[in-house]
Amino acid sequence: LKVVTDVVCPFCGTLCDDIKVIMDGNRIVDTLNACVIGNEKFKSAQAGHRILAPMEREDNSAEFAPVSYDYAIERAAQILANARRPLMYGWSSTSCEAQAVGNELAEVCGAVTDNTASVCHGPSVMAIQTVGAPCCTLGEVKNRADLIIYWGCNPVHAHPRHMSRYTTYPRGFFTERGFKDRTMVVVDPRPTDTAKQADIHVQVEQGKDYELLDALRTVIRGEDIPDVVGGVKKEDIKALGDLCKSRKFGVLFFGMGVTQSIGKHRNIDIAISFVADMNKYTKFTLVAMRGHYNVTGSGQVMSWQSGFPFSMDFSRGYPRYNPGETAANDILQRQECDAALVIASDPGAHFPVSSMKYYAQIPTICIDPHETPTTGISKIVIPSTIVGVEEEGNAYRMDNVPIRCRKVCDAPEGILSDKEILERILARVKEIKAEK
Ligand code: SF4
Repeated sequence: LKVVTDVVCPFCGTLCDDIKVIMDGNRIVDTLNACVIGNEKFKSAQAGHRILAPMEREDNSAEFAPVSYDYAIERAAQILANARRPLMYGWSSTSCEAQAVGNELAEVCGAVTDNTASVCHGPSVMAIQTVGAPCCTLGEVKNRADLIIYWGCNPVHAHPRHMSRYTTYPRGFFTERGFKDRTMVVVDPRPTDTAKQADIHVQVEQGKDYELLDALRTVIRGEDIPDVVGGVKKEDIKALGDLCKSRKFGVLFFGMGVTQSIGKHRNIDIAISFVADMNKYTKFTLVAMRGHYNVTGSGQVMSWQSGFPFSMDFSRGYPRYNPGETAANDILQRQECDAALVIASDPGAHFPVSSMKYYAQIPTICIDPHETPTTGISKIVIPSTIVGVEEEGNAYRMDNVPIRCRKVCDAPEGILSDKEILERILARVKEIKAEK
């Protein structure tokens, strides 16, 4: 047996970089330090639902026939080059290198390209672009933060090592006694497993995050508020305001309970304003709890290349951005695209049924290492290697720190990486367009 050390877990936005992988030859036997989800991600390299050859499905057929990579890439290039309004979606579970090629492919095809932020932290990105955001790294949180607020998120289930590695429990330079030196607050309508570990659980009414944040801003200025706001008593809101002001370094982590409830980007807008207000009294920052391990990177790469972090429309030859109109689900709901490419995500598991019913009718390409609800209804399925397990690549942690993911084992023979597949499709699309 061999142990590969300092491996980065390519599952969630925490991007834990202390994983040890135990190998028997090229087979992953076990992992050390990874949480249960991360462990499964590594073991998925050998899972039975791995796709080992490209496949094609005829219209109206449920059966796939195996095809060669050359054939699948040619068909994908023909579909994308001949489409009038192609949609490209996903990008969040692959490397920045593949994302960069994908953005060029979208531009050459005049496509709408969107990442999974449009159905999770898109509102956060919009608010941060509008008003800016006081951020910090997870390393700073570990070493300095004495107040941790989790608002509308449940890291015990979605980011299982977040609290043990960076926030509530670890010992840091200025927080030597670990959790004894910190206070943890959870704001959530439900008594989640994260809330059960908190010092204070603020049980806000569903959809009343904006009102509660507004009330918090008011009390920290010393002004009066109604007796109850968002289901929380005035004295409890005042106590929370006083607690925030009394700490040396506070961090507000927020999740989809805030970004995808009533108010959306306005909730984040006011959360940022609250954090900015708090900096008159003490040090305070905020960090979005990003889900897919490289959704942050997708936003970064799209922004470097075209100025916008998601929902980009290249149909006019230059990038346009109007979430609500140019997001992937909007395009599918309006049945506007005539072809689609999905990569490194699974809209079949997360989008509305009506969107995926339309997806199943049009020419589609899905690039994924595993069988998923999306591969099952795509026309061309192209298997790829798993970045961070079978392939190196850069990814951005939720705090916007870039981290190089390692390769720990070889992919099944003949399987290409996302980047190679996209490069080959791009080269062929350019040829087809030049011939026209
Ligand atoms: Fe992987 Fe996230 Fe678990 Fe860390 S917390 S081991 S990055 S799934």
